[in-house]
Amino acid sequence: MSDCIFCKIASGEIPSTKVYEDDQILCFKDLNPMAPVHVLFIPKEHICCADEITSENSSVVAHIFEVIPKVAKELGLENGYRVVTNCKEEAGQTVFHLHFHLLGGKKLNTEMA
Ligand code: 5GP
Repeated sequence: MSDCIFCKIASGEIPSTKVYEDDQILCFKDLNPMAPVHVLFIPKEHICCADEITSENSSVVAHIFEVIPKVAKELGLENGYRVVTNCKEEAGQTVFHLHFHLLGGKKLNTEMA
């Protein structure tokens, strides 16, 4: 997707502070952190949102969830963390490239909505 900001981050066209990268996924620091640790995990391939996860592309999502605990440990989140994805406008999605927020480093607000 030529006009997708996270595709541009994945390709290196737009710089980011990378925390983890492999051939399938990228993890980088959120520009506007909502917690002491706030990073985003994205598949390099363009998937719009959670609604677009299918049996054809779900292996990259499983891969993200395999990597999250390793990155969380590296970032010092032994006491816990939250993983969030916002799907579409009503949930607050602002960047329409699937991403998972990893938040931690403080006692998080437990309100879910
Ligand atoms: P959403 O609201 O879609 O769930 O989350 C999008 C997130 O992307 C926000 O937390 C926002 O701060 C972050 N973000 C938006 N543009 C950029 C950018 O250019 N670079 C980085 N590192 N984060 C961004």
